[in-house]
Amino acid sequence: MTADSTSSPDEQPTSLPVCPNGKSDCAIIEQLVEISQSLTELSQLVPTDQLTGLANYRTFRKALVHEMERTQRSGQPTTLIMLDIDHFKNVNDSWGHEIGNQALVHIAKLLQRTVRRLDIPCRYGGEEFAIILPNTELSASVLVAERLRQIIAETPLLMGEQLLPLTVSLGIDSYRFGEQTSPEELVQRADHYLYQAKQKGRNQVRHTKLPPVEIVSRGEKKCASQPVRQRRP
Ligand code: GH3
Ligand code: MG
Ligand code: MG
Repeated sequence: MTADSTSSPDEQPTSLPVCPNGKSDCAIIEQLVEISQSLTELSQLVPTDQLTGLANYRTFRKALVHEMERTQRSGQPTTLIMLDIDHFKNVNDSWGHEIGNQALVHIAKLLQRTVRRLDIPCRYGGEEFAIILPNTELSASVLVAERLRQIIAETPLLMGEQLLPLTVSLGIDSYRFGEQTSPEELVQRADHYLYQAKQKGRNQVRHTKLPPVEIVSRGEKKCASQPVRQRRP
């Protein structure tokens, strides 16, 4: 489901400027090049996606790295939900690109309204979204994802008198204390479950196996992660 992941809306390459008069000896070409470079630099500083106002891909990437590092310090898992709108191409084909854009804004608002204050909803690219859930066990994340799925399915986009129903598929995986996993691998793992949700018929949540109920304390976890020779007898 990462077809759009390399073409995030904020990652479009900027083409070299062409002098408006079309002549090769253009007097303002240097200024145009400078302006173009400044625009590229400025775009790197923008943290949000222009259309939806959610965190953009670059911000997502930074936040994911940050939260995964935090997991290694705190011992609390970071969970990632990947969400993709079902049959979105049909929305564009039947209703047009502008309504498609309105549908993206609509879904983004529902995400913002539904996730918890510390969760980080992002536009991953195209019609795919990601939600980072810091300090959150997989079981709690499954409830968040299921609530999201239900709210989106029950809240069609209102266009005058007409209703445009939308559904989404979601994939979830967690990053746990002591794991050797890169941010890219975590995205791939959540994406794998998103793919399963699509395969199984869409409008559903799929996730990695829920771990057995936590009975190990954080102190015990820390001890368990140390090399055997450093443990107390
Ligand atoms: P699936 O259920 O398998 O995800 O099917 P799908 O139709 O959603 O997936 P597909 O990848 O075939 O199509 C995604 C569509 O999303 C195609 C693309 O034009 C559209 N899209 C991506 N970004 C935007 C955008 O910013 N605005 C609009 N209106 N459409 C977009
Ligand atoms: Mg889709
Ligand atoms: Mg997609």
